[in-house]
Amino acid sequence: MRNITISVITIALVTFLMAELAVAQNVPLPTRFDNQPFDIEHYTATLDLTEYKTKFVTAESKMFVRWNSDLTAPTFPFHLRGLTVDSVFVNNSRTAFEQIGTPASDTFHYEVTTTKPVSKNQLDSITVFYHGVMTNEGGTSPWGGVHYEDETLYALGVGFNNNYVSATQHWLACYDHPSDKATTDFTFIVPNDVVVASNGLLKSTTAIPTTNQHRIVWQMSNPASTYLLTFAVGPYTTLAGNTKSNQNVPYEYYVLPRDTVSSKISYSLVPIMVRTFEQLYGDYPFEKVGYVNTQRGAMEHQTMISLPVSVAQRKDTVNSTAAHELAHQWFGDCVSPVDFSHAWLTEAFATYSEQAWAEHLFGHEQYLKTVETNARTYINRTSKNEGVLPLYDFSRIAPSSNYPQTIYQKGAVVVAMMRAICGDEVFYATLQKYLQEHAYGTATTDDMYQAFKGAMGGLAEKFFQEWVYGRGWPVLKVEYWEGFAGPIVFITQTQQDKFGSFHTLPLGLRYNHHITGKLIDTLVIMSSDTLMFSAADITKTYINVGSSYRSLVEILYPTTVHDDNADADIADSTRATVYVDDSKNNAKVEFVTPNIYSELIVTDSTGRVYWRSALTPETLQIVIPLGGMANGAYYVNITGNGKSLTLPFMLSF
Ligand SMILES: [Zn+2]
Repeated sequence: MRNITISVITIALVTFLMAELAVAQNVPLPTRFDNQPFDIEHYTATLDLTEYKTKFVTAESKMFVRWNSDLTAPTFPFHLRGLTVDSVFVNNSRTAFEQIGTPASDTFHYEVTTTKPVSKNQLDSITVFYHGVMTNEGGTSPWGGVHYEDETLYALGVGFNNNYVSATQHWLACYDHPSDKATTDFTFIVPNDVVVASNGLLKSTTAIPTTNQHRIVWQMSNPASTYLLTFAVGPYTTLAGNTKSNQNVPYEYYVLPRDTVSSKISYSLVPIMVRTFEQLYGDYPFEKVGYVNTQRGAMEHQTMISLPVSVAQRKDTVNSTAAHELAHQWFGDCVSPVDFSHAWLTEAFATYSEQAWAEHLFGHEQYLKTVETNARTYINRTSKNEGVLPLYDFSRIAPSSNYPQTIYQKGAVVVAMMRAICGDEVFYATLQKYLQEHAYGTATTDDMYQAFKGAMGGLAEKFFQEWVYGRGWPVLKVEYWEGFAGPIVFITQTQQDKFGSFHTLPLGLRYNHHITGKLIDTLVIMSSDTLMFSAADITKTYINVGSSYRSLVEILYPTTVHDDNADADIADSTRATVYVDDSKNNAKVEFVTPNIYSELIVTDSTGRVYWRSALTPETLQIVIPLGGMANGAYYVNITGNGKSLTLPFMLSF
């Protein structure tokens, strides 16, 4: 899924009740996993959406529950939000039910007591009849839940701002936690002039005699987490003539008639996306590739992705949003997070896959550009907007949300760094192993770590601590010293007070050998606070901007070379250094104290003035904005007290 919002979460206390005769099953928080004594294997639901324009539903949801152990009259929890429960049946017996908590609670649900003992492996059906006007997560920019817009009624499976995350409970009575995956069989009753798109395969469309309604049946034979279930009702048409993938699965696109032409163009590369991801991650795991255009989105509903109609109208065949959601069919849908604290396992890998899609279409250089864009956006903007968060179990408190941009942007770069450390072959083989081992089930961050443990040359444990469980990024200060055979490049980590040290930093270096002059394009793992190497020419030395790798790192470049002999002749008080920020947004000039200069002017080689500032003895640092300056050589001219200093710097974007 992809969107940007803000959230507030209330922290709930979970109490654990243990009784001798009746075991009360607590519903875990959306970000926690508790073993339950049951497993929901299948949902059969009928939703009467005859009045779909008013969001009114009359429904029946039958949950097939397999018990894991012998229990005396256990209780069973189910979620339903904003709708009225009319009655509940256990098998064929009408049964009492109880509301647990208030709708403000993140674990708000209902409980049914089975009244009879159950034995291990026994299968019971629990049927909930309910009705009402379907709602969504609410707030200023609602996402998760049910919407009626643009003549269509549709559901999005997760919320950004709600404290319960999975939003399927806004339309389906279900155990709404990602840990319990089930197959589905949905029947929708809608007017004849609309159709329904949903998960799995369309089994039948049958007219209901003497009415102007028809009954549409969708069945899904692979289990899904409840947050991946969806439906969309509207005057849709389906695009015809799509090619089939290696598995011969059908491709279905539900679009409004007015969007047929643009959607055909926007979805035209989807079969190539599928083949690309099959080569990287293994066979497409499901029975259908499906997209439905909706006002809001995008959301990776299993086999029926909701894509914002604005994206489908763009006629952009690269369609990285469609690629992101498609990659989720492997990362998120086939292998689902056991709870939402592991959401990076889905979003980091789907965003990484956008980078891999760019690589497939345009080559490795474009891949590096997309990784770099994610890294720069994360460091310069996202970390400032939503706080410096870890990938695993991040804060959901505003300005963060259930899906902060951190897990997308930082996540995608961290996955690219895992690839750099492993090498392409080992990296993709490891991902395939992880996907196979947990296929059609759930996984945790530790499962991903276990998969990569042997693949990262002993670095995995520390790497996960620093990049997945930890926060922040390394800030490297680069200095050049004049050596006998050429400059010595001296790199020091400077972020320790803020984020601690990073000792598993893959760093691409590109420079000419100090003796042979030969181009070296290599990856080093920076495993201590400093790194030093000799290069023939500092103007041709690149750190994290070479031709092969990008990492999440900020680099402060100096443009002056320390010359020990020359320095001896210059009084300390006249020295200054200029650094160009790695982001190329700013240059920084640092002075020694006290500053003897009174004016600073930035010019290009023709003497054109770009920026000027007065200086005082207290000025120890000046930030020069570089916006609007083209590639080329520039000069920082500093004057005062009868002295002057010129510091050259280069801009090459
Ligand atoms: Zn996503």
